[in-house]
Amino acid sequence: MQEVSVIAPGAAPLAFGREGRPRRISILGATGSVGTSTLDLIARHGDAFEIDVLTAQTNVAALAELALRHRARMAVIGSELGYAELKARLAGSGTEVAAGPAALIEAASRPVDCVMAAIVGAAGLRPTFAAARAARRVALANKECLVSAGTVFMSAIKEAGAELLPVDSEHSAVHQSIADTDPRFIERIVLTGSGGPFRTWNAEQMAAATPEQAARHPNFSMGRKITVDSATLMNKCLELIEAFHLFPVAVDQLSVVVHPQQIVHGFVEFTDGSVIAQMGTPDMRTPIASSLAWPARMSAPATRLDLVRLGSLTFEAPDEQRFPALGLARRTLELGGTAGAILNAANEVAVDAFLERQIPFPAIAALAGAALDEGVRTGRVCEPACLDDVIAADEEGRALARGLLRRYS
Ligand code: NAD
Ligand code: MG
Repeated sequence: MQEVSVIAPGAAPLAFGREGRPRRISILGATGSVGTSTLDLIARHGDAFEIDVLTAQTNVAALAELALRHRARMAVIGSELGYAELKARLAGSGTEVAAGPAALIEAASRPVDCVMAAIVGAAGLRPTFAAARAARRVALANKECLVSAGTVFMSAIKEAGAELLPVDSEHSAVHQSIADTDPRFIERIVLTGSGGPFRTWNAEQMAAATPEQAARHPNFSMGRKITVDSATLMNKCLELIEAFHLFPVAVDQLSVVVHPQQIVHGFVEFTDGSVIAQMGTPDMRTPIASSLAWPARMSAPATRLDLVRLGSLTFEAPDEQRFPALGLARRTLELGGTAGAILNAANEVAVDAFLERQIPFPAIAALAGAALDEGVRTGRVCEPACLDDVIAADEEGRALARGLLRRYS
């Protein structure tokens, strides 16, 4: 008979990280929302981790402070202008200092147990690809590696034999729900979304929405760009594209459900009718902890879920009329190749233009869709062979969107 291990009732929960040497971790985009949440968790697990590299783009003071507090081996500032100040701030600390895009890639290439890839935007592509080649585990927050470079990135991960763990709460939920079930038993994957700050607004109100109003995400505190994407639901569009690359399903097995409380982060329907969901209060430290510790669990300080106090959870179908960004996911996935890179780049240009008050809110999705159409019309959607092809498509997407800006302003 198989031996069953019995845990004594009332025993303390298993502590994480007592199994030998500390895990060495680098954080790309350490000063951002995901980066600082990651460091917050790591600080709570004293001896379980040691920091190799921390990077940031321009915020020298924040980077230096984090490097000192977490005793990083190396701190890299993306903007070369920050080098002298970073060096001065870290003088005598023993932390190595470097600056510039090449140094960022070099630092991401250092062999570590885990890289937290949390640089925002297409700027994260080269460093995260470098990490995929060198790290044992890539905890992936950056969206562009999957949205813009999905097939190329997944090949790079496979080739390197790296382990890829999603950080985004919806993909983390799906990953945790699948766990070690054979993915061929999956029938459908559903990503949930809050519906954003304009969930209940009518078209007229949305036409007059300001950047300040778009910046008020109902549940999560996040970087500026992703907050606007949450308001247009472009974030869900990008997440559907990410899910397609992360999990072995067809486009029509993926869908989105609006769930304003954001307690259920995603769920998977299996062939026997079972639906497995992951729940938790909305706090990015929970999915980040899962990506760092998987398949173990590390404690995270998120407010505990009290379903009785919540009373009810609600779900509704997304309105694709008011949120046309959602429909762009299917179109992009059906086009395949560089369509994701073009759409994503065009969306970045559109979000910037909206934040600069050059275009109204509804023009963001309209402009991104029009740039994709223009890309198709002019034969720019093709199968990328390597990262350079993706970066070229990204640049084309930006140029297409800039060319269309005046039409929407
Ligand atoms: P953020 O804007 O708060 O931080 C971005 C980080 O990237 C900063 O450290 C910044 O210094 C660095 N950076 C910015 N531009 C750079 C450049 N050109 N070169 C190198 N580094 C650069 O963003 P965030 O909210 O932490 O999000 C990070 C990534 O994770 C994004 O791709 C986002 O879509 C994704 N994500 C975030 C959340 C969230 O809750 N914040 C949730 C899911 C996914
Ligand atoms: Mg998400």
